[in-house]
Amino acid sequence: MGKQKRFIGFQRNKICSKRFEGGLGFRDFRHFNTALLAKQALRIISEPTCILSKVMEVGYFHTTSFFEVRKSWNTSYAWQGIFGTGRLIEKGCRWLVGDGRSIRIWHDRWVPREYMFKVISPPSILDRHATVSQLRSDSGRGTTDTLIRHRSKKGKFSVRAAYNLACDVSRIDSGGPSRMDPNRDLDIIWKTKVPARVELFGWKACSKAIPTVRSLLRNKVSISTKCPQCDEEFEDVKHCLVLCHAARITWTL
Ligand SMILES: [Zn+2]
Repeated sequence: MGKQKRFIGFQRNKICSKRFEGGLGFRDFRHFNTALLAKQALRIISEPTCILSKVMEVGYFHTTSFFEVRKSWNTSYAWQGIFGTGRLIEKGCRWLVGDGRSIRIWHDRWVPREYMFKVISPPSILDRHATVSQLRSDSGRGTTDTLIRHRSKKGKFSVRAAYNLACDVSRIDSGGPSRMDPNRDLDIIWKTKVPARVELFGWKACSKAIPTVRSLLRNKVSISTKCPQCDEEFEDVKHCLVLCHAARITWTL
């Protein structure tokens, strides 16, 4: 038997978008997995005395910092996963200065200013790898430096925050906006008090995800272009649900 084409009415990005953005609010497990790994990476960076940090440090970054490690395929699967979240953490976090010994003046994000959180002037006077503790008159005494989630009231880098950040970064990488505009038309569907399956059908109709002739042809499924009910008009969502005589009869019942 030949391989049959399946009808896929919408993309994964669509169903994984939030409901107010016009999606179904499903969780994207690729990004959720990244978020869980990012949480572990943050623990390794923030708690250097814990056993996990010690093991990883001895194995992979005992001569440099976590963010300066170069990618290598000759490492454990666990480390590759954790290491891969470094970019996400760099994008979503900034340092809260404690003693300043872990923060490099010109490389790390620690200045409380929008967007970059970095010093923009080139290195001068001090070495380019100098730390913030070298700027302090008290020689960097105080609490340890902490990575916090920027643009968050509590600054906590939770799995939820990491997941949302991973979704935003993925959108930007694929050329889209970091945040989708609210889709008020589809939002009305979820606020209507009808059974869940009616809500879902309404969402499919508004998202053009019903397998009409137009949708099937768009998905390169070979089929007659005429509506199978009336065999007269070209079938799209509007014809299928409103204009077709079969639909009209249904609405008058
Ligand atoms: Zn018809």
